[in-house]
Parts: sequence; structure tokens; C-alpha cells
Amino acid sequence: MTKELEKLQQWIDESSRIVFFGGAGVSTESGIPDFRSVDGLYNQQYDYPPEEILSRSFFDRDPEEFYRFYRNKMLCLDAKPNTAHKKLAELERAGKLRSVVTQNIDGLHSFAGSMRVWELHGSVHRNQCMGCGRPYGVERIRDSAGVPRCSVCGGIIKPDVVLYEESLDSYVMEQALRDIQNADLLIIGGTSLAVYPAAGLIRYYGGERLVLINKSVTPYDSHADLVFHDSIGTVLGEIKIG
Ligand code: ZN
Repeated sequence: MTKELEKLQQWIDESSRIVFFGGAGVSTESGIPDFRSVDGLYNQQYDYPPEEILSRSFFDRDPEEFYRFYRNKMLCLDAKPNTAHKKLAELERAGKLRSVVTQNIDGLHSFAGSMRVWELHGSVHRNQCMGCGRPYGVERIRDSAGVPRCSVCGGIIKPDVVLYEESLDSYVMEQALRDIQNADLLIIGGTSLAVYPAAGLIRYYGGERLVLINKSVTPYDSHADLVFHDSIGTVLGEIKIG
């Protein structure tokens, strides 16, 4: 074990209110692409950049094209939880971890067994009729052609995913902030912290045990008390519980 890992292990051993805040890097280790980093690829197949297709005004204007992109690129339903997801679920079961705050929409933390997960950007697994509010699972989106419609009222079904131009759910945000404020150890992984609201969330943490795990350097490395430039699965995989 390296000195850094020993320190992380010690901090985890001493903590009971850990919060993990994760970005796209947590999911890329399960084979889910980060669409922001491969922009060029999509431009070859679509007439618009992903940021435009995944905006609320685009959804309202051209739901058919939205769903063509969404089904091809955003639904990665074969992906499985990786070492990081599983370790975080274990830490929660062991009474060490308070919650997971994530920017990912794939639901993999819940699949791994995490109970208290704040999904800041929503989840592809929840969908709702815009007309009557009836909920639908992700299979309905995957298995329908064109624009999925409600079987009761015929309204358009919309994923419970926060699109560009939409605001974050205020309840989810408040709960996430409260957990971060009360955390005795904050571990941030798989994000360069460049994307809203990631950078802002850190400011709510008043403790002295801020850990950053990211493959590349981030602008916040110097603010952190412990930094790993490595994969999250590799680092958390070394941690022993109990
Ligand atoms: Zn309906």
C-alpha cells in the first residue's frame, strides 16, 4: 500500500458520514461513454452537437430526433456496476457512508446496492407522461419506435433526466448539500470539477478531509487534502472494510 492509500484507509476507518460525489468517470469504468469527451464522433452521425440535442428546447421542437440520439447514445442498459459502485454500496451497508451524490443518469449505484443516492441529473430508469404523469420504466423507451407515447392519454413520455436549459431538482440538491455539509470525509471521483454544479458543491464541505480521485489533474487538486491520479475502481478496490 502506498502512503496515500494508507491515509485514505485510515480516514475511512475513522469516518461514519462519508459522502462520495461522482462524475462521468465513475460510469466510464463501466464502459459508458462520456458524451462530452467524444463530441466529434457524434457530429459524424447527427446534424447537431449533443449539447443541443439534449436541451429542453430541442426536445420540445424535435422529440423524434432527440429519441434517436437518446436511444443510441444515452441508454447503455447492458452496463454493469464496477468495483467503485460495489465498494461504495459496501461502505454504506457497513455504516461508514452517508450517501452517494452523482451526476450520472445510469442508475448503476442503485444496481450495486446503494440505498441513499442523490441523482443530480436524474435517471434514465424513470420516465413520465407529460400529459397525465403516468410513470414508465426504461424498457418502454427502449422498445418503442420514434417518440414514445402514453398508453392512457397519448401524451409524450419524457425521461426524468435533467436536460440542458432545465434546472436541477431542488429537493435532491438540498439533500445532497446537507449530506456534504455534515460529511466527515468527502471523496470526489471521476470528475474534473469543471461542470456545474460540481465545483459549487465542494464549497459546502467544511471539513479537512477532502479526497480527489481523477485520472487527470483538476483545478481543485491544490484544495484537496489527498489526491489520487488513478481510476476510482483501482483506488477504492484497495480499501478494506471492517
Ligand atoms: Zn398520459
